[in-house]
Amino acid sequence: MRFDYQPPIHTTHSPRFRRLATLYITILGVGCICYAFLTYNINENQGKSFKTPQLFKNEQQNASTSILELSSSGVQTAEPIIQAAANMQTPIENWRSVTIKTGDTLSKVFNTLGLSNSLLQEMINDHSLKKIITKLRPGQILDFKFDENDALREVKLKLTDLKTLYIIHTQEGFKHYFEEQTPITKIKYSSAKIAESLYSAAHTAGLDDSMIMQMAEILGWDIDFAADIRTNDSFKILYEEEYINDTKLNPGKILAVEFVNNGKTYHAVRYIDAKGNEGYYSPEGHSLQKAFIRTPVKYTRISSHFSTNRRHPVLHKIRAHKGVDYAAPQGTPIKAAGDGKISFIGTKGGYGKAIEISHGQKYSTFYAHMSRFNNKFKHGSTVKQGEVIGYVGQTGLASGPHLHYEFRINGVHHNPVTVQLPRATPIAKHEQDEFNKHAANVLALLTTHERLAHRG
Ligand SMILES: [Zn+2]
Repeated sequence: MRFDYQPPIHTTHSPRFRRLATLYITILGVGCICYAFLTYNINENQGKSFKTPQLFKNEQQNASTSILELSSSGVQTAEPIIQAAANMQTPIENWRSVTIKTGDTLSKVFNTLGLSNSLLQEMINDHSLKKIITKLRPGQILDFKFDENDALREVKLKLTDLKTLYIIHTQEGFKHYFEEQTPITKIKYSSAKIAESLYSAAHTAGLDDSMIMQMAEILGWDIDFAADIRTNDSFKILYEEEYINDTKLNPGKILAVEFVNNGKTYHAVRYIDAKGNEGYYSPEGHSLQKAFIRTPVKYTRISSHFSTNRRHPVLHKIRAHKGVDYAAPQGTPIKAAGDGKISFIGTKGGYGKAIEISHGQKYSTFYAHMSRFNNKFKHGSTVKQGEVIGYVGQTGLASGPHLHYEFRINGVHHNPVTVQLPRATPIAKHEQDEFNKHAANVLALLTTHERLAHRG
């Protein structure tokens, strides 16, 4: 709440008019401060009350909006509001704004505004400020505030949706500070029944593609969204969105989802554990994720299956094929099938460039014939599920670009295509109570919204 872009006010009024105007503005200013404090306190209180778990029971939103504001911290602190009110008492100031174009430099902008180079030098004397202010991007807006003598008082630069830089020209030189806005988080509800396709149902329900992708990612371990979706399948989701001044910032995040697929109901609840790790769990606290991705590469076809005996295509000898060959174009990214540590990285005879990952005591996976590795990994590196470890190639003995992939349990090779994959780690025992409360709350919210939607 700042009073930007005030037109220049010329001081040609009579002294009596000026006295009256000053009085009027002072009254207005005091009023503003009172209003600002009131608004601030109200919002502050709302923010607090909304954070209590009772929210989930006393929730009184109507079904048509289905929006809960979790926090009102988007409201700025009272300080700038008071500042703005105080600014009103000295109306003789003038804001001019400059939109940066390609090729613009700060000195060019200063020239345009009739400001001297020595003033610019003074401003960018501060090294940390220089780094920010001289890296201007086209489209950014610089606001300059001048006083009645046309002297530069302040420069304002919006750095991101959330962060603004203020440079104040004081008698001791330039000082700067940042103002950061906290977005307002809104919780939204949506539900749909699938008639034609999941996409059209979701779009009708007001969800964008990113939300469908998230849903498919969360439940993708249990439901194959490409093949298993049926007419009359349905879903309910609770998700959050972040806003600054009614502008949505990022695609929302799903808090809970219920999906009925082919008559079977699946639930997922998002939970961030004490260590800050985010995951989706069943209402009982089992991870919905598997500890391993079934197929660590996007392949065109399986060029050789797992078998205990087969003729080797290059060596022409009968040999067990203890993995699966996924044919894929040269350079296709290869992902780590699960969290683990790199226990081998390098060239390994006929396997060419290969990586072995050990996933705890019991499991290990092996990836061969790579064209190259991801540079960031070396022996002993920790790797996360889904991280790209290298790229498809045909190093070693290979008749074409493919990934040779092995899956071992206690050192014994299993068929990666059919092996039963374990679930990822469930909720830790000491967090189970906390999780149960959270899951009960969000699932109750799903049900409440559904009832409201039906009543409306
Ligand atoms: Zn192979």
